[in-house]
Amino acid sequence: MENGLWQLLVRRGFLVQSSELYGGLAGFYDYGVMGAPLKRRFEDTWRRYFLSLNRNFHEIDGAIVQPEDVFRASGHLEHFDDPIVACIKCEHAERADHLLQEHLKEKFEGLNEKEYDALITKHKIKCARCDGTLGHASKQNLMFPVTVGVQSKTRAFLRPETAQVPYVNFARSFEVTRKQLPLGLALVGRAFRNEISPRQGVYRMREFTQAELQIFFDPSALDAHEDWDSVKIYRLRLLFAKDRKKTVELTCSDANQKHGIPKFYLYHMARVQQFYLDVLGVAPERFRFYELSDEERAFYNKFHWDVEIDVASFGGFAEVGGIHYRTDHDLSGHARVSKKPQEVFYNERRFTPHVLELSFGVDRNVYALLELSYKEGERTVLALPHTIAPYDAAVFPLVNKEGMDTEALRVHNALSKKFRIFYDDGGSIGRRYARQDEIGTPFCITVDGQTMKDRTVTIRNRDTGKQERVSVDALEIKIRELLD
Ligand SMILES: [Zn+2]
Repeated sequence: MENGLWQLLVRRGFLVQSSELYGGLAGFYDYGVMGAPLKRRFEDTWRRYFLSLNRNFHEIDGAIVQPEDVFRASGHLEHFDDPIVACIKCEHAERADHLLQEHLKEKFEGLNEKEYDALITKHKIKCARCDGTLGHASKQNLMFPVTVGVQSKTRAFLRPETAQVPYVNFARSFEVTRKQLPLGLALVGRAFRNEISPRQGVYRMREFTQAELQIFFDPSALDAHEDWDSVKIYRLRLLFAKDRKKTVELTCSDANQKHGIPKFYLYHMARVQQFYLDVLGVAPERFRFYELSDEERAFYNKFHWDVEIDVASFGGFAEVGGIHYRTDHDLSGHARVSKKPQEVFYNERRFTPHVLELSFGVDRNVYALLELSYKEGERTVLALPHTIAPYDAAVFPLVNKEGMDTEALRVHNALSKKFRIFYDDGGSIGRRYARQDEIGTPFCITVDGQTMKDRTVTIRNRDTGKQERVSVDALEIKIRELLD
């Protein structure tokens, strides 16, 4: 990621390799003074949007360390692994499928260890570091184990996904929310995966943030949604597994009738697409849903479409989220291992609710939005959506004299009660505009000589570079209007 954007992100305090002072650790990143508010605002935008989809959707929070039994029930203990090959001479390890893909320019996911060994021998692939011989492929579990306690040690793990927290909290949450379905439990938080050789920058991190919504529902209502009419003629952008050549646009209604995708699933696809296109301003041609084939998806996912955005440094269309119909896999697994039934009594029937999971990688999304917003040219601009830009506006005095600095500070302090406002009085006004363009601030307010005469200021628009004069007293209303 040694491009102009990455340099800007480091220079302006968005993102940096974690513990850079000590050489860093692959797969870990820190968000700086611009990155942290940007990420938080993305999360807040996500919350506002997805929690408003249904009056019975709620946010919870939970522990990052969970006991081994949770992952016995979820299947992570047994199945959450990647194929690894290590050099016999220098012990350098790589993912077998990625190694083959690099050499043979084809995808090799999901083979068994013998098949990997055979391909590596056949194509005489050696250690990338020392040219030594590679050992046999083996499975490497991706969870980070931790030991809890000193005297009596309990095995636990850093959660590899946030989803297990809502699942183990389902029964109590169902009681608390007065036993209604669908019930949505959202969680925004950290997850950890000990990736074997994370070389794709922020795309594959070992510590990352997920924003996930687990929707528990009655499976007999799978082909229905109370708000179906509002999405019926909405056109989804779909790349079917059976035709990977072309993204097609289909109405929800056609996708239901001609392709058998259930209404409850399609409704949420439409809302996810609208989140990207309408709320985040992603261009339609850079967005699509990618259907996973039978080989690609987990056996318990009955329907699985990834959310993909076209981002050059991710190598084109890449996964930033997913919509997973997980059936009763999760609750039944927890019922089996915990020996506590997870059934509900609802609509005169007793059953285990099914789960529809809307899952998003926050870091990938934030990075994708940064890259799509980045414009080089006469001016370098991060044209971020207003809702997620680190600052709403900046305030400058044209010069630090004749009372302009005092007045600018007064304007800054008044607006700061309502908005996120940056203050800058250093360097030429042109340099100050350029700095705000680089961090994506939509509007710059300048107090100048005329302010002192008629109490008006200029507002400059990041995207057009144009300025207009506005009365100081009307600023708050004006900014609110511009940000909308
Ligand atoms: Zn080696």
